[in-house]
Amino acid sequence: MKTLTNHYIDGAFVESHGREVMDIIRPTNGQLIGRVTLGDEEDTRRAIAAAKSAFATFSRTKKEERAKILHRLHEAASARVDDLTAAMIEEYGGVAQFSGLIVKSGINAFAAAEQALDKIPWTRSWDKTTVTMEPVGVAGLITAWNANALFLCLKLASAVAAGCTVVIKPSELSSLQTRVLVEALHKAGLPKGVLNVVTGLGTVVGAELVRNPDVAKISFTGSVTVGEAIMRDGAATMKRVTLELGGKSPTVLLDDAALDKAVPSALNMAFLNSGQACAAGTRLLVPKSRLDEVKKTIREAMRAFTVGDPADPKTAIGPMVSQKQYEHVQSYIRKGIEEGAEVLVGGEGHPEGLDAGYYVKPTVFVNVKNDMTIAQEEIFGPVLSVIAYDSEDDAIRLANDSKYGLHAAVLGTDIQRARRVASQLRAGRVVINSMTDDPQAPWGGFKYSGVGREYGRYGIEAFVETRAILEV
Ligand code: NAD
Repeated sequence: MKTLTNHYIDGAFVESHGREVMDIIRPTNGQLIGRVTLGDEEDTRRAIAAAKSAFATFSRTKKEERAKILHRLHEAASARVDDLTAAMIEEYGGVAQFSGLIVKSGINAFAAAEQALDKIPWTRSWDKTTVTMEPVGVAGLITAWNANALFLCLKLASAVAAGCTVVIKPSELSSLQTRVLVEALHKAGLPKGVLNVVTGLGTVVGAELVRNPDVAKISFTGSVTVGEAIMRDGAATMKRVTLELGGKSPTVLLDDAALDKAVPSALNMAFLNSGQACAAGTRLLVPKSRLDEVKKTIREAMRAFTVGDPADPKTAIGPMVSQKQYEHVQSYIRKGIEEGAEVLVGGEGHPEGLDAGYYVKPTVFVNVKNDMTIAQEEIFGPVLSVIAYDSEDDAIRLANDSKYGLHAAVLGTDIQRARRVASQLRAGRVVINSMTDDPQAPWGGFKYSGVGREYGRYGIEAFVETRAILEV
């Protein structure tokens, strides 16, 4: 049983002023594993004051100094990879393989930001004009639970690289993981007040960050509903915002795809992080001419998607993060059936022998129409909708017929054709033939998937303002 009662403010762990206590529940069996004392407005204001005071000096550091700090953050976080991965598995049921990758990817963000520092033209001059890129100010970083360590490292790396100081509000469902990470980052010896972390509710700590005039920028990862509130409420203090929101990502399987590779690849993208991933490819667009073959291959390939203990490296799908999320996913499976989609694999209820935790059956629906609820709304669980199309143009139309535009995939053998289709998809990132990553490539969404970009120089530029000095 772990008990967390403090926040990280001005370079030290300090007792919470807020007194509300929240239980931490293990999703594999619903048992209590810890308690966290939630911060309040007073804790948040203290953290903002520390960040504001540190900004006066930190904003004037040279990029070489910030590169050294990023290097130290990378080293400090790297020392706790195993502990961080274990905390993710225990606290939200992230499967071992995915959790390990996410932690490493998050830590790598410090190294990637260090490299990106040299790609940014910090000063440009012509005639008697000099343009410099200046840190925007104190930044509030608000994260979702589904890859909290990654979001936290990524946002912190970009902000520090830009010369900003930060107050982090991690997801309240990620308190244990955050504690491990902050203990690690404390060892990096940052100047006091550059990094502050207040654990608490979004409606309390998050809302204070959004409304406080001493916070210049909010970088947020989470739902569309909260993203809209941040944009609206932040307008009163003219907040700069980066919003990384939801998705309903299409995977376009072209008619020349090799199904033995393409179908497992599509399923891996659909069931990424047990389907609790913003980028999950939850709409699979299949040519009508190959639908029967695809259905058969899906049935066979689904045998590899075993559900069970997330700590077991062979497990593909773990529990949902909470009872609420379990119910949410069940309601969409029921909705899919009511609207006339056909269950090819899975369905309602717990998988056999897994009644104790928040486990759901990975479910594949066929005969889905793109205007059905299960094809339009983000479910955030292992539920895939297979949608048939007539032609390449029809596939592109269906892929883009969504309020979201975060991620998309194209699977096919003719690479020129795959590129042609990819270039017509309205998504912030499109992958060809399998999910892959590049820490310098931008990440972010079109349409309701968000505002702004993260990663590499794009992520750093989201934390700067330009200033022009003109002489006569
Ligand atoms: P959420 O929006 O409920 O919460 C996200 C964060 O916002 C939490 O820290 C929460 O405490 C905080 N919050 C809640 N109300 C707030 C308020 N009024 N003001 C300020 N902060 C507030 O989302 P979630 O359930 O944690 O995460 C799931 C969602 O996140 C999904 O929609 C998913 O697609 C999205 N997501 C997007 C990305 C991306 O990169 N685009 C990545 C991961 C998750």
